[in-house]
Amino acid sequence: METLYVVATPIGNLEDITLRALNVLKEVDLIACEDTRHTGKLLKHFEIQKPLLSYHQHNEKFQTNKILEKLKDGKKVALVSDAGTPGISDPGQVIVEAVIEAGGNIESVPGASAVITAISASGLCTDSFLFKGFLSSKPSARKKELQAVAQTKETLVFYEAPHRLLKTLDDMFEVLGNRSACAARELTKLHEEWARDSISELITHFKARPAIKGEFVLIIQGFTGEQEWPDSPAEAALKLINEQGLSKKEAAKQVAHERGLSSRSLYQELI
Ligand code: SAM
Repeated sequence: METLYVVATPIGNLEDITLRALNVLKEVDLIACEDTRHTGKLLKHFEIQKPLLSYHQHNEKFQTNKILEKLKDGKKVALVSDAGTPGISDPGQVIVEAVIEAGGNIESVPGASAVITAISASGLCTDSFLFKGFLSSKPSARKKELQAVAQTKETLVFYEAPHRLLKTLDDMFEVLGNRSACAARELTKLHEEWARDSISELITHFKARPAIKGEFVLIIQGFTGEQEWPDSPAEAALKLINEQGLSKKEAAKQVAHERGLSSRSLYQELI
């Protein structure tokens, strides 16, 4: 069985492709990619001509079998995504698992990824971090996901779409408190921008824009126990009771967990 190459491609600036990535893309028999037109343009830029196979989140399972057959037929296959590293908030995991299961060989050809590009220059702690990818687009699920990491000491890293940026920052302010943060926009591209400030200042900064455009990575300081909060613990608990129908006990537990407080004394305060 031949090798599957998991190849990172640029997240904007085409000069970020690696020499090894180019060599691998030139050597393989087939390139599996999310969007054949998008990858076609990248390959054209580097004067590479290869057969392309569409491999995206909606056909991943079906196309995995096809790729396995090709590898078993002795064909070398490269997997790329539209941008950055495959498998990082992008398709990839299914084919990687399948090749491992089939006893095949995989090589990872490293390169750009927005998460690493963003955290490395964010100014926030890089010793350890938790990459959460995209939060849910549903407000209540998004808040729950944030509540689950509210006491995580590691730096938090999220991907976000421009049309959800403000809603997500608002939820972060409410659930995580007013932490230090960084919004990294359009990395490696013409309109690259770094906004490093508290969450509330980032909200003010982006609210002032007539339109929010581009791709974003949000990096948020981990839990230190010293966050500023938009409201008192009792007010936050009352909000949960009124808006989400939680009981006093549940609300006290949740707010106490987020803020590192005693749930018992908050419950006492509520009753
Ligand atoms: N596989 C990619 C990687 O390794 O970073 C991520 C793909 S994910 C579908 C796309 C998201 O990554 C965007 O919505 C944005 O949050 C982030 N992203 C990708 N390129 C970016 C860039 N140039 N600047 C800022 N964020 C970017």
